[in-house]
Order: sequence, then structure tokens, then C-alpha cells
Amino acid sequence: MSQRLARRASHRVVIGPYSIGGAAPVLVQSMTNTDTADVASTVAQVKALADAGSEIVRITVNNEESARAVPLIRAQLDALGCAVPLVGDFHYNGHRLLADYPDMAVALAKYRINPGNVGFGSKQDAQFAQMIEQAILHQKPVRIGVNWGSLDQQMLARLMDENAQSVEPKSADEVAREALVLSALHSAQKAEAIGLPADRIILSCKVSRVQDLIAVYRDLAARCAYPLHLGLTEAGMGSKGIVASTAALSVLLQEGIGDTIRISLTPEPNGDRTQEVIVAQEILQTMGLRAFNPLVTACPGCGRTTSTVFQELAESIQYYIRERMPYWKQHYAGVESMDVAVMGCIVNGPGESKHANIGISLPGTGESPVAPVFEDGQKVATLRGDDIAEQFKARLEHYIERTYGQDTRYAS
Ligand code: SF4
Repeated sequence: MSQRLARRASHRVVIGPYSIGGAAPVLVQSMTNTDTADVASTVAQVKALADAGSEIVRITVNNEESARAVPLIRAQLDALGCAVPLVGDFHYNGHRLLADYPDMAVALAKYRINPGNVGFGSKQDAQFAQMIEQAILHQKPVRIGVNWGSLDQQMLARLMDENAQSVEPKSADEVAREALVLSALHSAQKAEAIGLPADRIILSCKVSRVQDLIAVYRDLAARCAYPLHLGLTEAGMGSKGIVASTAALSVLLQEGIGDTIRISLTPEPNGDRTQEVIVAQEILQTMGLRAFNPLVTACPGCGRTTSTVFQELAESIQYYIRERMPYWKQHYAGVESMDVAVMGCIVNGPGESKHANIGISLPGTGESPVAPVFEDGQKVATLRGDDIAEQFKARLEHYIERTYGQDTRYAS
């Protein structure tokens, strides 16, 4: 695993079977986009997200129908053997829903409160306090989540005024970032003053621009010991959302900042919601912070691979690994750390394959139509024929059983 810099939250928050903060691994979270009141759809999506590897799933609780649905969702997930902790996302009416629906308050493992969206005007403080009191009553942790789009405008106006009077005024962006951080810290102090223990508080300050996110979280991390939930809000669709999230989070994670992450991708129409979980896992795994699935190293291909055989094999192996992982995970401890190389020709193929646990180097254009296979740095076979992919998968199964299995039939 890679070396992160030293900053980790000193507080450690327990949520369901997990800890967030301290030396605990960085957890992967996700959020549903179903109507929470639609129990069947929400159960199905939470289950899919959990099966994909989401360790915590957030659901919106925005009205009475949703509040009533939460205990049913929890019960149905439990009946399916899915124990993933559920987080309730509250805005404006959370104080009332938590008080009126105690079964919902109990069924949730954590409450997410946005201090900019707890109520209007003079009611804001009282309603924030009511939500914190519910968390204390039910012994639940809280994420205080501040967002660019719902920043406390009074605080922002006050800081802007003070800045205008200062001898060396900061830029408007710097003042806005300061307002975000202060809003989160003040809300956490208020929650502690009401009686919520410090080790039940997680903070987030989500913004939608990469450099702003990095600056805000560095500041937040320097000024508090609460665990931090990282995520670029409204990251966007497709490659832009993935690249922007990865750029921001990898800088912070490398500095030891961040205890749980969520990737806020906009799915394509009818797209798969679980993509945000896979991206989160791949960020953590490619950085060497956690291992979830064997990684496939594949070269990009070039003029030496004029046929599609190479791309088809790389895709087929990637797909096969994802399909087989639920079984492998149950039977072969450590298999998630395995590296597999699928390379396109003799130029880099054998070298890269030797560095992987198991690798194959396909024949490039004009090369002899054979594919050497390497295991733990040694050439162990040369595959030929039309079914090289199937032969390689069989070798992969054999390698996994021999390397990670309790069964020692194949031990050499
Ligand atoms: S390994 Fe061969 S096919 Fe792949 S990119 Fe390098 S030169 Fe091209």
C-alpha cells in the first residue's frame, strides 16, 4: 500500500460495522437516485450499490412518505442479507421528520445535515438543534455537510464586508472558501455544545471546482480533527466527472486528507448507478490505498496491433474478472490484490507481464501467432489457436486456486 502523508482524523466515528477516521481504511459511499418512498426500487438500488462495493449508502428523506418507507427498506435489505448502513439525507424538514418518525430515526445509521438547508431565518438554529438532539437521543453519528450551493448567505455577506475593510483584502473566491470552512466548523461546535460527542461528527465541504475543493479541504484538515467526507459535488457526466473527481481526490488522499469518499457522477440516461462505486474503488486501488478487485494492466495498443483481437481479449478478461470476483472473494483471501497484464506485442508485453502476477503477451502484426504467458515473473506456457482467451482464463483460475486457495492440490 502507498504511503500517505500523516494527516488522518484523530476522532474515529463508528457507523454500523465500520469506523471512519483514525487509521481506518478510506470507505466508499454512494447515494441512490430512486424515490425513497418507492420501497421496491430503493431496495433494489441500495442492494446493487452494496453488491458493487459501496460500504455506506445514502438515501434522501425528503417527505413523510419517504420517512415511512425507511424502516421498510431497512427490513427488506436485512431480509436479503444486505447489512449496508443507510444514511438519511435531510433538508428543511428533517427536524420534523426525525421527531415524527422515530422508527425511521432508528433505522438510519447516520444523519446527513446541511446547515445551510435546515430552515429559514430565525428558525435555522432551533431546527439544527432539534436534529442534533434527535441524533443524541438515538445515538447516531451526523455528517455536517456544507455545499457551495447552499452556503449560509448571512455569514458570507458578513465575511465579504469584513474583507472589504481589511488592509489586504482577499479575492472573493478565497472569502467564499473561508465561509464554507467556517460554516462547517461553527456547525460542528454548535453540535458539540448541544451535547453531540465529537466522535459522532463527520464534516464535508463539497464544491464543484477541483482547485477550490483541494484548497477548502486542506484548510479544513488543518483546523479540525473530525473525519472528513470527500467528494467533488456535481462532478458531471462521463469522463469529465471521473477525471475531475480523480484529480481532486487523489491530491487530497495523497496528503492523508479524507476518511470516506463519494463520487458524484451524473449517470447517462438509463445508465448504471453503480459506476460511481467502481470509480471510487478504482481511485483508492490505483493509488495503492485499498484493494477491491484484481487490476488489469493493458497496453493501449498501437500500429503493431492492427487487429481487434487484442482489445477483445483485454475486455473479455476484465469482464471475466468482475464476474468471477464475488466467488473468488469468498474462497481466495487476498485475490483482490492480484495484478493481471494483457499486452499487445513483444515490445513491452513480456516485460510488463513479468511484473504482473499473471500476464499474457499477444502476437503483434507480423509476429509468430503465439502468446507467451508469465506467472510470478516466469514464462510458464505458450498459447496458440483460436481460443487463446479461454485458455488464458483457465490458467487464471488455476493460478488463483494455487496462489490464494486453501486447497493445496496445485501447490508446487
Ligand atoms: S506493447 Fe506493443 S502493441 Fe502494446 S502499445 Fe506497446 S508496442 Fe504497441
